[in-house]
Amino acid sequence: MKRPHAKRSLGQNFLVDPTYIQRIISAVNPHDGDTIVEIGPGQGALTRPLVESGAKVILLELDREFAAELGSEFQENSKVTVIETDASKVDFGELLGDQQAKLVANLPYNVSTAILQQLCLRRSYFTEMVLMFQREVVERIAAVPGSSERGFLTVLVERYLDVQHLFDVPPAAFRPRPKVTSSVARIVPREAAAGSDDEFRRLISWAFAQKRKTILNNLKGVYGDAAEKLEASGIEPGRRAETLSLDDWELLLKSLKTG
Ligand code: SAM
Repeated sequence: MKRPHAKRSLGQNFLVDPTYIQRIISAVNPHDGDTIVEIGPGQGALTRPLVESGAKVILLELDREFAAELGSEFQENSKVTVIETDASKVDFGELLGDQQAKLVANLPYNVSTAILQQLCLRRSYFTEMVLMFQREVVERIAAVPGSSERGFLTVLVERYLDVQHLFDVPPAAFRPRPKVTSSVARIVPREAAAGSDDEFRRLISWAFAQKRKTILNNLKGVYGDAAEKLEASGIEPGRRAETLSLDDWELLLKSLKTG
């Protein structure tokens, strides 16, 4: 493949170390019969072993040049589809129909939040995901109650996805080298929680609107009976949103829904 210049705006740091490429592929464990969606294939480091497994592979790449290069590299292979698109805007329902897929991605920092939010809501299309992020994104989504890193994304992801940190990847494994360490995580959708996705999302988005404020101050403008409902859920209204566990959120959601 011709090598277009890496574009910083698209987070293009390409994985070149064969050991880490192999570790990610082993985590995905691709097989003939699988459908695998890869976001951001770039120069194809992960793509080629995925294709060699005999799996059906759908590539979503925003960079026109890489999409074109991959399209011509795999034009003879009817199991490979290349789509030039912004993966954070893809409707996975439309893309996959009634088939379920594995998802693989080495995600650039600027789209990882948007894509994770999208995956929470579209989780039913994926059996599992092997994703690489900047290590700080994995730390943020794994932040426990009480940690200042715990935020909207942490709670959203905790409700819908089970995240297992597999291993770190050092900057030296990429060209060009990023400034920070990356982490690979295996992410498996959880059983659907009770209560609607929209209501839950709305609640936590208001509750974390101003992280330094108490939960009551964040919620009282939106839910007139916020103080009562917090008390009824056993949550002291002077706490900050980052101190609540997922069970606290579920209780609060239930309480807000009952009149
Ligand atoms: N998978 C390759 C690897 O591991 O070497 C490339 C990884 S590079 C960190 C990120 C890739 O995602 C680039 O190819 C970039 O063009 C692509 N990309 C960036 N934003 C994207 C988006 N919103 N949708 C789809 N692809 C995107």
